[in-house]
Amino acid sequence: MRAQRPIAIVGGGPAGALAGARLAAEGRDVVLFDETLAWEKPCGGGLTHKALQRYPFLADAGGESNPVKQCELISPSGRRVRLHLRHPVAIFSRLALNRLLLERARRSGVELHQERVTRIARTGNGKDWQLVTPQHEYQASYVMLAAGARNSFRSQFLSPISPHDLMVTAGYFIPGRSSLMQIQFLKGITGYLWVFPRVDHVSAGIAGKMGETSTLELRRTLEHWLEAEWLKEHGLRLNGARFYSHILPSLRPQTFETLEVCGKDWAMIGDSAGLVDPITGEGLYYALRSAELCAGALLAGRPEDYRALLQEEVLPELKLAARVSERFYRGQVFGDSVLEQMVSLTARSASFRDLMSDLFAGIQGYRDLRARLYRILPAVMAEGLAGTLSLPWSSGRSAFATDPVSEHLPPAS
Ligand SMILES: Cc1cc2nc3c(=O)[nH]c(=O)nc-3n(C[C@H](O)[C@H](O)[C@H](O)COP(=O)(O)OP(=O)(O)OC[C@H]3O[C@@H](n4cnc5c(N)ncnc54)[C@H](O)[C@@H]3O)c2cc1C
Repeated sequence: MRAQRPIAIVGGGPAGALAGARLAAEGRDVVLFDETLAWEKPCGGGLTHKALQRYPFLADAGGESNPVKQCELISPSGRRVRLHLRHPVAIFSRLALNRLLLERARRSGVELHQERVTRIARTGNGKDWQLVTPQHEYQASYVMLAAGARNSFRSQFLSPISPHDLMVTAGYFIPGRSSLMQIQFLKGITGYLWVFPRVDHVSAGIAGKMGETSTLELRRTLEHWLEAEWLKEHGLRLNGARFYSHILPSLRPQTFETLEVCGKDWAMIGDSAGLVDPITGEGLYYALRSAELCAGALLAGRPEDYRALLQEEVLPELKLAARVSERFYRGQVFGDSVLEQMVSLTARSASFRDLMSDLFAGIQGYRDLRARLYRILPAVMAEGLAGTLSLPWSSGRSAFATDPVSEHLPPAS
């Protein structure tokens, strides 16, 4: 018998596992439920330098991830540029990443249960929680919901995530190896297609706004691209590759403005709370960081501070990303799309390439991006860039104007 009710965490993905480890390491009694425990969750698995810096045990995970230093960007019209990443992106299989995090939680003292939670309700006294699984019933003093984007409990605490705040994804885990990460932007899709090489296979996928494109259309687009590009180049076929599909939060600005993440004796972290970058789809860092902030607030005896901590550190970046996402994917600049211009500048300017590399590393935030763009402007011009630059976050004003960019880019080196 426990003297006090434990903290219950529903979901053992990155958010739940890290929150559990942090709480148990400080002596809290934690039970964590995941229906599968470690599994190959549909994901690219890319962890930025920012995430590795904050969680060095992931950087030290050696053979578990593929550190990728080369990235090819492909514009909607097919222009290509290769970018050397000054800080590699570590690409994990999600089975390996989840296993590593859950094992760390277990070693810290978290009680892991491979069970699906089917019901969460207040107990009769209204103070505690009752969690029901097909196997047992449990009682808890606090519930942390870390059950990902696709979970039925959100609506019990808050409204469900609206379809307008979601992306649909489709992808394949393909046997084969590569050292090149590829990102293809596509006309008419608010999202992108990616090839993320892992240690012993590749996660290739595509994401688009829910309602704008169906999963089937995305799947066909991806298959077509893979057949014509990656598979052809590597002499491989899709037979033997495993298909996946999942949803990804991509909150609109107005949704971020009214975002709720906690209440009396409960909180949501990671994808359950919608904490994903609406431009890049990066969610792993935000799952880990929200878990840490939530656990820290609980440990300090001020669980309600989680909301303010998130507001202060995490939400400003995500809100700004939500505001510029539409212009990033759909905006036009002097007769060409923002995406074409971005690939063009990456090809032409070393200073712009450094900026892109820092964006990929997660060490260049959106909030000071405009300031940096103005700072590097003379260098970009000196590097022989001919063009008119107006980026989506520059409120439609032209940052500088010379000749329009019209020539074809040099071939990728
Ligand atoms: C196709 C795709 C590609 C992506 N690529 C990247 C990328 O490259 N880089 C990046 O940073 N982010 C990426 N993301 C986002 C990233 O996958 C998520 O942000 C991240 O997994 C969120 O972690 P989480 O712990 O909040 O949720 P999840 O990882 O979804 O974990 C939730 C867990 O809860 C469990 N669960 C759910 N319901 C219950 C229940 N009732 N009872 C018990 N257990 C339950 C599930 O089994 C699961 O293990 C991608 C997402 C998708 C869909």
